[in-house]
Amino acid sequence: MNIDQIIRTRRKTIALVITPDGKLVVRAPLYATDNQIREAVDRHREWIRAKQHETSQYRTQHPSKTYQEGEPFWYLGQLYPLKISPTARTPLKLSDGFILSQKVLTKAETVFTTWYRTQAQQVIVPRVLHLAAPLGYYPERIRISSARTRWGSCSARGTLSFAWRLVMAPLPVIDYVIVHELVHLVHHNHSRVFWDQVRQITPDYKQHIAWLKSYGSQLTLSG
Ligand SMILES: [Zn+2]
Repeated sequence: MNIDQIIRTRRKTIALVITPDGKLVVRAPLYATDNQIREAVDRHREWIRAKQHETSQYRTQHPSKTYQEGEPFWYLGQLYPLKISPTARTPLKLSDGFILSQKVLTKAETVFTTWYRTQAQQVIVPRVLHLAAPLGYYPERIRISSARTRWGSCSARGTLSFAWRLVMAPLPVIDYVIVHELVHLVHHNHSRVFWDQVRQITPDYKQHIAWLKSYGSQLTLSG
């Protein structure tokens, strides 16, 4: 079993740490022998393997963007490759791919976040109004949020919030999330009546829930 780093300090015992990128770091007392360290590692072989497996699974489920040429980015359910342009005049533009100006490469995450937020505002708000009309349920306010764990929410005061990351999903999936929150304006729970109404408006809602389950963890910039 490979030890990536040994850090010796004035501690009394040996401790094993698995870093988020799966490396094994041993924290050891100043005078611990190589044998003592090796023995501690051997004794915790199973635990180390399990932890390393866990971090690698987390990394595949939450990949952080690296902003390299060709890296794919989601928008409305499609993946577009990143192109880094030395001559682009705008920080970020979408055509057949995402064209990012080289000048803003060091703050790419901020530039992308701003872009997605703007798109979310332009796509989601009109969809809410469009879907609300036939229902006659109108939210007090529509917010675009930075929520990381929820796609949408409905407050007791009738504010509907949607995560900007949602604009990475296909339009029918976005519509389902909007319908879900609109129905919450009247039914503040997940009762049968609630789901019956969701089904009436979006008959294939289960398919959209499944899409979010499969791809939701990819709809992110920072893992
Ligand atoms: Zn709900």
